[in-house]
Amino acid sequence: AHLARIEAVDEKVNAFLHVDREGALAQARAVDEKRARGEQLGPLAGVPLALKDIFTTEGVPTTVGSKILEGWLPPYDATVTKRLKAADVVILGKTNMDEFAMGSSTENSAFGPTGNPWDLTRIPGGSGGGSAAALAAYEAPLAIGTDTGGSIRQPAAVTGTVGVKPTYGGVSRYGMVAFSSSLDQGGPCARTVLDAALLHEVIAGHDPLDSTSIDRPVPPVVEAARNGDVKGLRVGVVKEFAGEGYQAGVMQRFNESVDLLRSLGAEVTEISCPSFDLALAAYYLIAPSECSSNLARFDAMRYGLRVGDDGTRSAEDVTALTREAGFGPEVKRRIMLGTYALSSGYYDAYYGSAQKVRTLISKDFEKAFEQVDVIVSPTTPTTAFPIGERADDPLAMYLADLCTIPANLAGNAAMSLPCGLAPEDGLPVGLQIIAPAMADDRLYRVGAAVE
Ligand code: GLN
Repeated sequence: AHLARIEAVDEKVNAFLHVDREGALAQARAVDEKRARGEQLGPLAGVPLALKDIFTTEGVPTTVGSKILEGWLPPYDATVTKRLKAADVVILGKTNMDEFAMGSSTENSAFGPTGNPWDLTRIPGGSGGGSAAALAAYEAPLAIGTDTGGSIRQPAAVTGTVGVKPTYGGVSRYGMVAFSSSLDQGGPCARTVLDAALLHEVIAGHDPLDSTSIDRPVPPVVEAARNGDVKGLRVGVVKEFAGEGYQAGVMQRFNESVDLLRSLGAEVTEISCPSFDLALAAYYLIAPSECSSNLARFDAMRYGLRVGDDGTRSAEDVTALTREAGFGPEVKRRIMLGTYALSSGYYDAYYGSAQKVRTLISKDFEKAFEQVDVIVSPTTPTTAFPIGERADDPLAMYLADLCTIPANLAGNAAMSLPCGLAPEDGLPVGLQIIAPAMADDRLYRVGAAVE
């Protein structure tokens, strides 16, 4: 049924870069056979899923939305892919994304933009716009995204779906193509809080193949999602997440969610996180710096595209020609920014300062979590904007990440879930919930209460 739905609507939505029809049917048949033999089935047996094209899948194309990996067939599965298969999930295919997960609209994909199923002329968010759109268009009931600065939560907000960035280190990064390693985090996307929790439980947990993976039990997310009780819970509203640039209808729905929490017995207080105003600037130095180093491996020798290798050119020239042809403009912009910020003589002024700001943001969170159990905010300042509106204005595009970035810089857990439609445009608004590291269960508890 989901493959038929994809066939019917995906020409318009463009959520998928690759539909693995044969592979999906084979996985589904294998589940049926297991069941017939009376074997123990995995926890999500037979449930279809859309996988962001940033996770390696053995023998199935993995492009990261880039021409530079076109035609590459990974020789191994990412840990997330492996765990999905072990849970008997049926992987429908790979979803569209901004190239190397750099963007907030999926317009930076080398393979064309994805439409927002609520209004196909608008963006579905990014970088994981394909995964969110697949959920909103009922092409899949579950999806996987990655969140470096908001790429799970912002697409969830603008498509009316649920997305969770687990605690940094909560879900393995092994086989997840690296953008900014100290920020990147894979996580679940779904249409309900409980669905997200069931998927979270399957993909999370320690992995010795990822050196930053946390070796502690997965927080009880499913139990929390079944028990949406917020009585006595201390909820903080960050003063700095409001004001100029925030759409009126977004603030209206957000304030209603806060009222709802209060009426359910939560204690709401206003808190201040003064360093959050610097988060965007710090992020757009740290993420490009790490990316300039991570993307050095795309040298035309190891994977995918190779341009100009006609027997007359040096390896260095082939590398340069391949990177020139294979990377899109946003990826090049970030490599340039990052290389500059890391170069000697500038390191302290840019990268060094950004790291100090990162520490200040973590301290703001630490102080806040002495006063409150969770923080809530709008996920994004506005609803989905029209495709093309911010495409030539990187700064306007970066503003979409205003509320999501602090949680990445500090490594906290965060969720976005729908909280109604903005009255002025009828488009979905997202409520963001942020919890301390390794308290991911609190997101689900609050999410289930207000869903
Ligand atoms: N929009 C942000 C960026 O372009 C976040 C991307 C992400 O979370 N992968 O970097």
